[in-house]
Amino acid sequence: MEKLILFNTLTRVKEEFQPIEQGKAGMYCCGPTVYNFAHIGNLRAYFFEDVLKRVLLYNGYKVKHVVNITDVGHLVSDEDEGEDKMEKGASREGKTVWEIAEFYTEAFKSDIALLNILPPTIWCKATDFIKEQVEMIKCLDEKGYTYITSDGVYYDTAKFPEYGKMALLDIEGLEEGKRIQFSDEKKSKTDFALWKFSPKDRKRQMEWDSPWGTGFPGWHIECSAMSIKFLGNNFDIHCGGVDHIPIHHTNEIAQSEACTGKKFVNYWLHGEFLIEEKGKMSKSEGEFLRLKTLIDKGYSPMDYRYFLLMTHYRKKIKFSFDNLDAARNGFNNMKSRISEIKAVANNNPAESLSGNANAIKERFNACVNDDLNVSEGLAVLWEALKEEGITDAEKFALINDFDKVLGLELNKVEASSGKADIPAEIIALIEKRKEAKKNKDFMLSDKIRSKIKELGYEVLDKKSGDTEILRIKN
Ligand code: AMP
Ligand code: ZN
Repeated sequence: MEKLILFNTLTRVKEEFQPIEQGKAGMYCCGPTVYNFAHIGNLRAYFFEDVLKRVLLYNGYKVKHVVNITDVGHLVSDEDEGEDKMEKGASREGKTVWEIAEFYTEAFKSDIALLNILPPTIWCKATDFIKEQVEMIKCLDEKGYTYITSDGVYYDTAKFPEYGKMALLDIEGLEEGKRIQFSDEKKSKTDFALWKFSPKDRKRQMEWDSPWGTGFPGWHIECSAMSIKFLGNNFDIHCGGVDHIPIHHTNEIAQSEACTGKKFVNYWLHGEFLIEEKGKMSKSEGEFLRLKTLIDKGYSPMDYRYFLLMTHYRKKIKFSFDNLDAARNGFNNMKSRISEIKAVANNNPAESLSGNANAIKERFNACVNDDLNVSEGLAVLWEALKEEGITDAEKFALINDFDKVLGLELNKVEASSGKADIPAEIIALIEKRKEAKKNKDFMLSDKIRSKIKELGYEVLDKKSGDTEILRIKN
């Protein structure tokens, strides 16, 4: 297997990926909170995880990919303050939380399918695994990591000496902050809810019995309980957006490692934000751009995917319609070039690659295996499309191969009409002539041009290095 390098948030350096089990990769990605549609920023997170998964598959790994659906427990602030996002969504729409969850889960699945994001091996809903979450809280309770306040069971972060290590948290600094902003029963600002009690005066729509009282799980425990259930106490990769580093993932590490006594995850990968002129795109800000908004304005989901591919996942992307237009133009140019190539290659990709074509493939591999540098990978695809030293059939094979990672649905680009029906004999002569030109055998190339002419076709050599074929006789 080729060397795959990934930037690990845990160590803040690029590391070679060493799977726990040879040839296999287990990956858990924090999924959506289904109280509203996903905005195009959220979709960037799932796009980056899709690229990671595709690169693992491209390298021959068998990937077990788990994504959760948060349908309970996520409060308006990640630090367990404020209203429950799901209940807020339900009252906004006059529906039950269960209806809201189902509706937005389906909307999310349809968005990611439009973006050609491969579905996970396992989807898991938080409300389907309450038993596992209660078991984990019991484990933490027995080991002395919890305390109870009037509103829930809390994790005592002071008991876990490594707390905040991944996020490089300044715990003392946070405690200073606590004195100004917080005056609750939490012992420390970083302590977080494992189980929240239902209010005494009303029944919540979602609540369950537990050894500590009726209530619902905190947001963080679902990811620890479900990732461990499906991937084991120690697994390969855990992903999410950069906003998850200081709280959600920090808390997942604290819960999981305190409970199992083992290192939780080997590689943590985090995707940067999509930002707008006014700052980070966010759902709670009211108006936000959805994939459907882009589609309604005439963009295709693949235009947006191409736009995302142009920036490395650890860099912020500034979204604007001008930037999206520029990406769409680039993508349109790429598709028309591919369509010409498919016509000349007569829709038959080469079965084997020459040295030149292999060198391009190796460059592509090197880019994507260097911490998922797909923007460079895209540049290599462009080089391949323009390269004179390889045949169109080879180009076609490379397009198909690279698209396993890029996911631009390039297989759907049709061969340009007018060329698609050029007979195989002419195509073969065109390829032969190209070969002759490459070897600077201009006598032979002229001879082939004459032969092509005799058969009723004219070859025009364009400045760009491309060739155009015209039918001159019926
Ligand atoms: P949520 O549905 O709010 O729980 O968020 C789902 C995912 O989207 C999380 O992994 C977040 O880190 C990520 N996310 C939220 N806002 C943005 C943004 N503006 N750009 C990129 N990712 C984001
Ligand atoms: Zn999570």
